Amino acid sequence: MEKETVNFYEKLEMKGVSRRGFMKYCTFLTAAMGLSAAYVPKVAEVFAAPAQRPPVIWLHFAECTGCSEALLRSAYPYPDDLVFEILSVEYHETIMAAAGTQAEENLQEALKKYNGKFICVVEGAVATAFDGAYGRIGGRTFLEIAKDVCPKAAAVVCIGTCSSFGGVQAAKPNPGGYKGVGDALGMKTVNIPGCPPNPVNFVGTVVNYLLFGKLPTLDNLGRPLFAYGKTIHDQCPRRSHFENEEFVTQFGSEEAAMGYCLYKVGCRGPETYNNCPIAKFNDGTSWPVEAGHPCLGCSEPDFWDKMTPFYQEL
Ligand code: SF4
Ligand code: SF4
Repeated sequence: MEKETVNFYEKLEMKGVSRRGFMKYCTFLTAAMGLSAAYVPKVAEVFAAPAQRPPVIWLHFAECTGCSEALLRSAYPYPDDLVFEILSVEYHETIMAAAGTQAEENLQEALKKYNGKFICVVEGAVATAFDGAYGRIGGRTFLEIAKDVCPKAAAVVCIGTCSSFGGVQAAKPNPGGYKGVGDALGMKTVNIPGCPPNPVNFVGTVVNYLLFGKLPTLDNLGRPLFAYGKTIHDQCPRRSHFENEEFVTQFGSEEAAMGYCLYKVGCRGPETYNNCPIAKFNDGTSWPVEAGHPCLGCSEPDFWDKMTPFYQEL
């Protein structure tokens, strides 16, 4: 165990991540998961000396691969490396070397070997109209692949709004009958919506599973409460400008202070559950509303239909 821990930190150092930087990330992740600071060493241990590395089969259906990109391109402290420390990714079309027939064989072998034991991560919506004819990989429809793989998994985790709720593919008129995985198969899934979702919400879900041996508590839409338990509006710093007397005085009136809020230019923060104001993006640099762009409601079901036209007051 000690040797593995040393190797882990050595590996991080080779990538330019100090032990201090890693612990900082673990502190951030622990807080994002809604756990007390006492859990920080345990969270660090999950990465540094994992007791188990569950096998993962990662499927891609109708999507832009932005969710994988958001996870893989995060710069610091390399959450992608951390994810691969704790997961054994057996199949992932974007990053695996195999292609064509060999890739299909790899998938079938992994299914046989890890039947009932693997985590299935799904990115992208499933076409259901015309027997799923609107989307195929290797001659099989997305629907056939989903029906083959998902029921064999110990848990199905939908990363992104497309696999969670259908996303842009399911926007009207939706000729392909695109749906989220849970709806398409009539099964319960863990949903990590967002366009893209914040990587910390996916990592937090996996770490919760490894730390406590179970999935995090979910809301009625299958979203982990630690990340999707509050609205954007409830956590938004721009609220302080019209709710805080000091700011109101500074702006001259409540109405003027209200101008700092993006509600009138179409912010969907009051109707959107997500932790963007706390988790932020680009390594905690900023998030859309902080950067001056209204929230579009990307983590809500049917957001392309319900939240549009964008940039108009609700
Ligand atoms: S900017 Fe959006 S989320 Fe922030 S206070 Fe205004 S309406 Fe709420
Ligand atoms: S601010 Fe709103 S639209 Fe932007 S990423 Fe967060 S939930 Fe999605």
